[in-house]
Amino acid sequence: NLSAKLQEVFKQLRGKGVLTEDDVKAAMREVKIALLEADVNFKIVKDFIKTVTERAVGVEVLQGLNPGQQVIKIVNDELISLMGSTQSRLTYSNRPPTVYMMVGLQGAGKTTSSGKLAGQLRKQGRNPLLVACDIYRPAAIKQLQVVGKNYGIPVFEMGTEVSPVEISKKALEYAAEQHHDVVLIDTAGRLHINEELMQELLDIKATVRPQEVLLVVDAMTGQDAVTVAGSFDSQLGVDGIIMTKLDGDARGGAALSVRSVTNKPIKYIGMGEKMEDLEPFYPDRMASRILGMGDVLSLIDKVQQNIDEQEAMEMQKKMRSNEFTLEDFLSQMQQIKKMGPLKDLMGMIPGMNGLNLEKAMEGVDPAKEMVKVEAIIQSMTKEERSNPSILNGPRKKRIANGCGRTIADVNRLLKQFEEMKKMMKQMNNMQKGKKGKLPFF
Ligand code: GDP
Ligand code: MG
Repeated sequence: NLSAKLQEVFKQLRGKGVLTEDDVKAAMREVKIALLEADVNFKIVKDFIKTVTERAVGVEVLQGLNPGQQVIKIVNDELISLMGSTQSRLTYSNRPPTVYMMVGLQGAGKTTSSGKLAGQLRKQGRNPLLVACDIYRPAAIKQLQVVGKNYGIPVFEMGTEVSPVEISKKALEYAAEQHHDVVLIDTAGRLHINEELMQELLDIKATVRPQEVLLVVDAMTGQDAVTVAGSFDSQLGVDGIIMTKLDGDARGGAALSVRSVTNKPIKYIGMGEKMEDLEPFYPDRMASRILGMGDVLSLIDKVQQNIDEQEAMEMQKKMRSNEFTLEDFLSQMQQIKKMGPLKDLMGMIPGMNGLNLEKAMEGVDPAKEMVKVEAIIQSMTKEERSNPSILNGPRKKRIANGCGRTIADVNRLLKQFEEMKKMMKQMNNMQKGKKGKLPFF
């Protein structure tokens, strides 16, 4: 399978001291074959290999990683971005009930996924209703009833004689009466996409105006799943994809291609028969599953942290030796912004308590303040940032104009910066002898 193949490729890189272009190219040839065998779309494979090769050749290898691991990091990053980078959640209508319309070919997993999803939504405190719109096989209604019973979800059905449009219309009325806030419509599939199927789905869609059309595709069908997704999306419009049967011997390629081919996110994946086996889809977790290299990936994580720490140490050194510039001040600000609420961070900085920072920050909205400060520093020249003492009247005026602030704002910033430097010094004195953790300013 795909992860075994990729691991084999990376194993050969692991021993290398330095990665040459030839090493990367040879490895990428293997990765390419592995991806194609996993049934990933050809064009996607081509682009993927190109991007990874460009990033990998001549790259500066992070300290603490060997070149092979560095390539794994790049492949991992690119896999994640191929699958859409972040998790895509279900959306809810602000005028309940929220209607989800489940569509897909026969056997894809619509009925069972509808049940699992309804069960999960119930657990989250919602009150879902399942609607049986597959009227072509009497067994289909029965199947939905069994699923509903399993999870304790009511099922709305009108037998096989009423049209799906009529059923769905009546179901919405029923949902309103019974205060169901979510309605899941289980539609009929066909063996292949045809006009009759699409027309029926378009009619239902026009009637119920769903919050989301969720397309269910079977991962085991590989590239076909991707083609099917493309057709459904162009003919019906799809908001999210549920990819089932990834627990089987699925080659995984469909999960990699479907996002970039259709530009529609995978929202859930099916990993088995139980309710919890319908899992939210996380691109990063999927990438590590595909790479099958938990150990290497967590090493890479650690190295990344280590680098951030090293940067912070450098900064600390600079502050001690009084080389701390406005440039550093800005980059610290930006780093902090990445890390979350300022207030929480303050508490983590050793020595901060004694400095009465709480009081100093009173009445200041840190987020707004930071935007202001950033803008001011950004309109300074490099020289001014590294040597603020040259900031005379005309320079300050130019800077203030450049960022739409006043000279008073610029002066306040410079004062803050000086205070900060003083504070750092004080802190260093206080910490002498103790093993210092990172100051963030
Ligand atoms: P529908 O025709 O689209 O409604 O498909 P069904 O919901 O009836 O599912 C078809 C078959 O696939 C059933 O036997 C399901 O149990 C099975 N199935 C659905 N999702 C998964 C999954 O994620 N993993 C596995 N192993 N089987 C699944
Ligand atoms: Mg069904």
